[in-house]
Amino acid sequence: MKKIVILGGGTAGWMAANILNKALAAEGFEIHLIESEQIGIIGVGEGSTPQLKQFFAYLDIDESQWMPACNATYKNGISFNDWTNSEGHNHYFHPFPSPFDQQTLGAFLYYCKLRHQGMDIDCLPNQFFLTAKLAEYAYTPITKEGIAPIKLNYAYHFDSVLLGQFLAKIAKEKGVKHTIATLKSSELDEPIGIKSISLDNGDIVEADLFVDASGFNSELLQKALGVKFHSYSDNLFNDSAIAFPSEITEKYNTQTEASALSAGWAWKIPLTNRYGNGYVFSSRYTDFEQAESELKAHLGIASELEVNARRLKMKVGQVEKHWHKNVLAIGLSQGFIEPLEATALHLVQESLMQFIKHFNKGKFIDENKTAFNQTINERFEGIRDYIVCHYKVNTRTDSQYWQDNRDNPCISENLQAVLEAWDNSEDIASVLQSRNMTQYYPVVSWYCLLAGYQRFPEATAPNKMPASQIEGLRKMLAARTELFIPV
Ligand SMILES: Cc1cc2nc3c(=O)[nH]c(=O)nc-3n(C[C@H](O)[C@H](O)[C@H](O)COP(=O)(O)OP(=O)(O)OC[C@H]3O[C@@H](n4cnc5c(N)ncnc54)[C@H](O)[C@@H]3O)c2cc1C
Repeated sequence: MKKIVILGGGTAGWMAANILNKALAAEGFEIHLIESEQIGIIGVGEGSTPQLKQFFAYLDIDESQWMPACNATYKNGISFNDWTNSEGHNHYFHPFPSPFDQQTLGAFLYYCKLRHQGMDIDCLPNQFFLTAKLAEYAYTPITKEGIAPIKLNYAYHFDSVLLGQFLAKIAKEKGVKHTIATLKSSELDEPIGIKSISLDNGDIVEADLFVDASGFNSELLQKALGVKFHSYSDNLFNDSAIAFPSEITEKYNTQTEASALSAGWAWKIPLTNRYGNGYVFSSRYTDFEQAESELKAHLGIASELEVNARRLKMKVGQVEKHWHKNVLAIGLSQGFIEPLEATALHLVQESLMQFIKHFNKGKFIDENKTAFNQTINERFEGIRDYIVCHYKVNTRTDSQYWQDNRDNPCISENLQAVLEAWDNSEDIASVLQSRNMTQYYPVVSWYCLLAGYQRFPEATAPNKMPASQIEGLRKMLAARTELFIPV
């Protein structure tokens, strides 16, 4: 029997258990997950990207099974509030583009072009994407019964603790072995990597492959094997967060809200039974107490009300090698790019699927590891650049934090090239494509971001487009929302 041991039972560990079991059990691999009750899980992370749909599809799990079990809701995109100072334009929507948007996408790109040429025209993405309207008017992305399904790209919100429990149940039903114990030490076996791990219940566990899903502790990859961690703190200042729930209203917008505050940003995520709220901030500019007061004020919660805010520290960056010797790191142990675009579980999923692809080619051959590590390193960097861009192009003037983000010279060559092309009214699509950046975020997402921030030269010419045109577009999208199931 060949053996895979997963250390850690957070969302990453249980996602790994399910995927590896599905992919490798038939080849004779036994999957064994070990987790520490004393240490527990991070217990945040309640938004996804659209790729989570493929994760459940891969495991043959239907939305009707997992969504109610995890108090999950649909997410049509992210509403960015107050990231700019633009009068009347301080809110924009980042949709998940889908083929359905082809009809209105052309208009959006054309309007951006006119705005680049100085025409005073409204080209916020909010007006051009159906999912933006579904989110605004509180509709799900699922068509009503009797209406032919319209395939939209959408994501989810969920209770991260319940999601872990749900995945644990499924994995155990499918034969994944589960032990509750805390790691005491790791025994090395050069040049293979880790020979065995010793647990506080007295067990010594050997494996062919160890999956390090031990969260920010990274017990196996970083601590035992000493793989280096490259911090992104020069690019991304946020290193702390607070989180607490609040009551949900009956009708909620089907979106994550990401609102800029004085030293970071706040998330507001609707679940079926509550909102999840949090403030991601930089400890160089504020502290936990101030952050809690500011978040309460932002949410309209009385300052004296006890909310049991959780305090979290974040290690932002990625490891030099995600798969080294016989250890694969998954989840927070491999790295984290702050949660602005909710990409962490997406990276878990992508790392696992890429691992299976490379592992199937030749198991532990170094060539496979090198190719895998390059793919995952580049994916982290690609996502990082898109997120850094949100900070770099902000136009807020209310605090040093925003000023410093805007003035930060530490941005990648790729991001610099995109911004230069945009500012020179050149075609950013060819820059993104030539630099392989579209596999992380499509061209349209970059347009939504930069147009959303109104990063254009000053408008010098009046709007010559007939008002009826944008009004017609608005009416068409609003009418189409009626085809979908309301919240
Ligand atoms: C503020 C914040 C907001 C976030 N928002 C999002 C979001 O919106 N979307 C998203 O996709 N992600 C988000 N994330 C990331 C998300 O929380 C994680 O990617 C996800 O929860 C997976 O975490 P994990 O399983 O890697 O680690 P953890 O949940 O920390 O699990 C680690 C596991 O390892 C075990 N362990 C650790 N040390 C030992 C040991 N010595 N012995 C035995 N077991 C051990 C622990 O007990 C636990 O079971 C967010 C993160 C933060 C900090």
